[in-house]
Amino acid sequence: EAKKAGRNTYRIFSEDIRSSITESLHLISSLRQAVAQEEFVLHYQPVLDLRTGALIGAEALVRWQNPKLGMVSPGLFIALAEKSGLIVDIGQWVLNEACRQMQAWRTMGAGPLFVSVNLSPVQFSRGNIEAVIAHALQTTGLDHGQLELEVTESTLIADTEKFIVTLSRIQASGIRLAIDDFGTGYSNLSYLQRFPVHKLKIDQSFVRRLLQGEKDVAMVSAIIHLAHSLGLKVTAEGVENEATSEALRGMGCDQGQGYLYARPMPADDFEAYWRARA
Ligand code: C2E
Ligand code: MG
Ligand code: MG
Ligand code: MG
Repeated sequence: EAKKAGRNTYRIFSEDIRSSITESLHLISSLRQAVAQEEFVLHYQPVLDLRTGALIGAEALVRWQNPKLGMVSPGLFIALAEKSGLIVDIGQWVLNEACRQMQAWRTMGAGPLFVSVNLSPVQFSRGNIEAVIAHALQTTGLDHGQLELEVTESTLIADTEKFIVTLSRIQASGIRLAIDDFGTGYSNLSYLQRFPVHKLKIDQSFVRRLLQGEKDVAMVSAIIHLAHSLGLKVTAEGVENEATSEALRGMGCDQGQGYLYARPMPADDFEAYWRARA
């Protein structure tokens, strides 16, 4: 009996694997097609100054508009795009489009808002990231100071000399670097001294639990103090209610982003959003 069950389990298991491999191969080929046919769009989520409530920038977030699947969120395809290397091309498209759009808004009368673009570690290891960034700024004419690049802590532990030089050159050209999902990565924070970072973005998991537990208050407040003592700005991500926003303001957090203020929105809606606040 046991042997039979074992064999059955094995069979089911292997079919599972086979179908998931088929599925991801299929997904990779649709993704490859999506790159060629530019099926991606960017949504923009406002970032506010917590003290004044002013709009100061937006995070560009990619979505895949698949003819069959509809709007696919990045949580469902970024990992596969990284594994297949397609993130290099997708990331290049995202950078160009975010810079083009922000410059278009600037010429329409928007203030010098920053646009934040998420970068994958694969773009550093496999792509010519410096040339890609320079090209995006050159062809669109966007001011370097309006571009912010978000990297995660895992990107920064690859502390090869070459990588430090690359990031330093990017920063020296006036582009800002933010550490995304801060607090979820590594306890060794020495990279904060090695890399020319401008901003920490506190991960939403801490922000969401802020009103529930003392430990999260301690974490968030420690991150804010750490940032300020290093001369960095802090953004809280995932702010969903007024009480959290108030608590963050009280702790001296500089910037906020979250559903309370606004969800990520298509470009047209973001244009209406900044116009209404101008
Ligand atoms: P992220 O960089 O941490 O972006 C913030 C995510 O939190 C976004 O999810 C945003 O919609 C969501 N969010 C914002 N405010 C709230 C809130 O108040 N509550 C909740 N529950 N969620 C909120 P999204 O757009 O699904 O993106 C997920 C992740 O996909 C991003 O996390 C980022 O790591 C990645 N991603 C998005 N666009 C790109 C891209 O162009 N390139 C790369 N490499 N990764 C990207
Ligand atoms: Mg981000
Ligand atoms: Mg991110
Ligand atoms: Mg984040």
